[in-house]
Amino acid sequence: MAPGSKKGEGHDAQDAHGDEIEEMLRTQIRSRDIHDPALEAAFHRFPRHLFVPASLQHRACDDGPLPIGEGQTISQPYIVALMTHLLRLTGDEKVLEIGTGCGYQSAILACLCSEVHSVEIVPELYEGTKKRMAEFTDPAIKRIHLYLRNGRDGVPEAAPFDRILCAATADTVPEAWKSQLRTGGWMVLPLGREAADLVIITKQSETEFTKRVVIPVRFVPLV
Ligand code: SAH
Repeated sequence: MAPGSKKGEGHDAQDAHGDEIEEMLRTQIRSRDIHDPALEAAFHRFPRHLFVPASLQHRACDDGPLPIGEGQTISQPYIVALMTHLLRLTGDEKVLEIGTGCGYQSAILACLCSEVHSVEIVPELYEGTKKRMAEFTDPAIKRIHLYLRNGRDGVPEAAPFDRILCAATADTVPEAWKSQLRTGGWMVLPLGREAADLVIITKQSETEFTKRVVIPVRFVPLV
């Protein structure tokens, strides 16, 4: 069973934007070598349109980030796709997400794993996203737990996590994330301030971590 289309779970918002999303997948995702049917199903299941301000609906499938208020942005679809793809979710994982923002990435993750624990530090974004989530009837949304706090501390009460994804860039990996990651698990995050790289950090043992650089990226800073 493909995790992106768990049995008995229908589309919440009617996929009124199906053609536009299909075009986005073709020109922005598959064309850049991400071939992931479960991920594509998730992109259809939660159109990006539902997460951007009303005034930007017509640009929801743009190939770039968009403002979501409070000086923050919703990530470029390709970056959401790439980071999600790199997590290689099978449906059973517990994921820690840092930087909820508008909740788009959280919804995509929720289609593909069993629990998403997502942390946001800006109260206005947290409140707005909590309200938005409450309006969805898709059962995947129930797998998302939202927290208003500093993501640098992680969510100790829900640890350990199989995967960690962070959508804001820092110079170093907070210790809490390292200790809250299960051995054998990995995190996908941008690292570096001026020139950041998207990296995968794998926890090989309690004390041993390995790092792989994927591509150079631009992200908002981790507060
Ligand atoms: N995940 C979002 C992208 C959000 S941009 C998406 O789906 O598009 C990064 C987010 O990280 C912002 O909302 C920002 O407020 C948040 N952030 C920055 N520093 C943080 C911190 N220390 N703890 C939690 N969230 C943080």
